[in-house]
Amino acid sequence: MLTKESITAKETKHSYQNVLIVGGGPAGLATALMLAKRGWTNITLLEKRAAADYYEPDKSYNYLIDGRGQKLTDFLGLTHQLSEISVPSTQFILTRIKPNGSRKTSKSPVVDRNRKTAYWLPRRAFVLLLYQEIERNWQEQINVLFNTSCVQINKTVINDGEEKLEIIAREENGNVMKFEPSLFVGCDGINSIVRKTLKEWDKSTSDGFEMKYFPSPSSNLKYKVLSLPPNFPLDSTGKEHSVCDTAYSIRGRFTDRKRSVSLGLLPQKNPNEPRRANIIRHPDHKIWELKNSEEVYKFFEQAFPQLPISQIVSPEEAERFAESEGGYFPIPQYSSKLHFLLKQKQVGGTDQSTNGVVLLGDAIHCFPPDIGQGVNSALEDVFVLNEALFESNDDLSVALPLYESLRFPDVKALIRLAQTAYPWQYNQAPLRSKLWSINFFLRVLLSRLLPYIFSPPAFFLIQNHRFSYQEILIMVQRTTQILYVLVGVLICGFLALVLRTVEI
Ligand SMILES: Cc1cc2nc3c(=O)[nH]c(=O)nc-3n(C[C@H](O)[C@H](O)[C@H](O)COP(=O)(O)OP(=O)(O)OC[C@H]3O[C@@H](n4cnc5c(N)ncnc54)[C@H](O)[C@@H]3O)c2cc1C
Repeated sequence: MLTKESITAKETKHSYQNVLIVGGGPAGLATALMLAKRGWTNITLLEKRAAADYYEPDKSYNYLIDGRGQKLTDFLGLTHQLSEISVPSTQFILTRIKPNGSRKTSKSPVVDRNRKTAYWLPRRAFVLLLYQEIERNWQEQINVLFNTSCVQINKTVINDGEEKLEIIAREENGNVMKFEPSLFVGCDGINSIVRKTLKEWDKSTSDGFEMKYFPSPSSNLKYKVLSLPPNFPLDSTGKEHSVCDTAYSIRGRFTDRKRSVSLGLLPQKNPNEPRRANIIRHPDHKIWELKNSEEVYKFFEQAFPQLPISQIVSPEEAERFAESEGGYFPIPQYSSKLHFLLKQKQVGGTDQSTNGVVLLGDAIHCFPPDIGQGVNSALEDVFVLNEALFESNDDLSVALPLYESLRFPDVKALIRLAQTAYPWQYNQAPLRSKLWSINFFLRVLLSRLLPYIFSPPAFFLIQNHRFSYQEILIMVQRTTQILYVLVGVLICGFLALVLRTVEI
């Protein structure tokens, strides 16, 4: 196990099995478990937050772990436990509540019977599930250090041009630690210090670790989360209460762009957990101007006359909501390099590189949550790294380039899908949203009528883990091309008809 002292990886036959992971989100914890399950030891994970289930109100959204994410939970033997703490997608029930209080409940139709059941659960519950697995079964192999930030990454040259890593971490109390891992894993999210350091090291030869940005209609939308009590009353009579495993879409009364708002609540298994209502609007929306709890109450009472706001929003929560900075949906982005190998001793005239750095999760691809693939793609990264390690017999000089070549084409396709698959769902521009819906339902209809010619919309295909992101993009682009040709033929036919009528 890595100690708090400087550690030199030199003696053991499997010296590469000295691992440091930065980031205790889904990607970092899952990577630690995957490596331990492969037989690796000496794995240390640094997480700057205080605990696995550390509560951050504006990061308390729900995940839907689909078949893609479950490839890894299956490998880790965790899918059954996952199912026990989640709401299955097959039981997704949505209640829509209008401003006049009328309610309509519907069960989501089964779109594809062959698709694996997916599971809804809060981010916190999923991260805790992974951490508890470490505590239960892998404590000897994995050491998780909370309240510890990676603050500096150095690459130093020792004998004969051989390079080694030196990582500086700082505990919350100011203690400094130094690590010299053979495998260094960056799972530290969108602002990854690991990727930024690799960008500096690599900048004279390429811009491969520079994030490439691709616009989307949903990027830069602002969000905040409003916490409501478990089973909160749905009206002022107090007769009807919310149910934990039901999703709610609560429409506001305002219709103008700067005030229109709705609350979205996703299902959860635990009846005692508070419910979280997501609010997602343009950055210039009135709701972001509310300065204190009085203004919060006034706005919400006017916007949601159907809800007993003063009963369900506590004064502390109203104040917290007003003070919270909230967050912004990121612009879809990816890094085209996913690994870095350090120079090792020359053996037989060639470089033997066994020390390396690898990036996974939001550190290499990040996008708004429209398609629910943030966590699933991160887990799939870990799954692909596992495959690359398997193929290369855990030789990092082969495994890390293999991981990049296997994964990068999918990362690129994923970002294109994130840009186009479902960006108008937040009703941020009603006309564009309607046009997008027409396109969406046309594809659904055509794919049902002529399945060999038209494929379903990307949003449906993405949830089928048997297709890679690349395959999905190819299918969707092919349907788009056919639709363009059809529209062209219809326009030409119409013009020909008009000309003939004029001639007659
Ligand atoms: C508002 C919002 C809603 C979302 N909704 C969904 C959704 O519905 N479905 C979905 O699949 N995805 C969603 N996502 C995306 C999803 O959260 C991410 O894709 C996923 O968490 C990626 O996991 P990760 O482990 O790569 O990164 P993260 O979850 O960001 O974890 C990174 C970890 O690294 C730690 N860290 C960072 N820097 C350091 C450092 N220097 N030292 C030590 N620790 C460090 C952080 O504290 C953090 O715990 C949403 C994201 C946002 C912002």
